[in-house]
Amino acid sequence: MEMRHKYLLLDMDMTLLNFKKSEKYAFKEIMDSLGLTFTEDDYIRYSHINDEFWKKLEKGLITRKQLLDGRFSEFAEKWGTDSVKLNEMFINNLAGRNDWLPGAEDFLRTLHESGKYPVYIATNGPVFTVMGRINASGLAKYVDDIFISEALGASKPDPAFFERIFDKIGDHDSSNYLMIGDRLSSDIKGANNVGMECILFAHDGNLPEDLGGYKVDHFAGSYKELQDLLEVP
Ligand SMILES: [Mg+2]
Repeated sequence: MEMRHKYLLLDMDMTLLNFKKSEKYAFKEIMDSLGLTFTEDDYIRYSHINDEFWKKLEKGLITRKQLLDGRFSEFAEKWGTDSVKLNEMFINNLAGRNDWLPGAEDFLRTLHESGKYPVYIATNGPVFTVMGRINASGLAKYVDDIFISEALGASKPDPAFFERIFDKIGDHDSSNYLMIGDRLSSDIKGANNVGMECILFAHDGNLPEDLGGYKVDHFAGSYKELQDLLEVP
């Protein structure tokens, strides 16, 4: 691809860090500390509920607070406890996790050392858990800045999320940016919303066949493919 971009915006979860692994650990820790026996079914149920809440947030149907307070309601009822407290336990457990996807750290280090682009993290999530995981993984040393939806006051795919990043970087020409991420409904839709070129990334090569009507400019099914697209040796 013709490399005319000045800035790379990189998604974090399931693009660099293994959120699924961290999430499962954080959920299991809650059950352990409540003296409950962890089952895969409980985790799958939680993960499904959480995904549904995030989809609603991405569509603007609920607020961030409603997501954080609500995603544990079913388990709070089942376990006879409070959903806000469960969410607090969850984010505390999550914040210390250091789960890179295999190959991600080498990729990010190589990208950083190439000096070819300023690299920014552009992620949805609460500042506390995102920064906790960034500190635990040592990710910050490979990037120029970190943009988190809670701090920006807008989430992907809302154009305001990207416009606030443009403000911070000081360049409002969306054609100077390239968004790289794994999620159609946030990363790709967000890039489409502001006319930004994008790469849909799947660390395990499992790229979707159905693009849901979104415009994907490039695909990468491994860090090697990503590096080739970015022309980083
Ligand atoms: Mg992601």
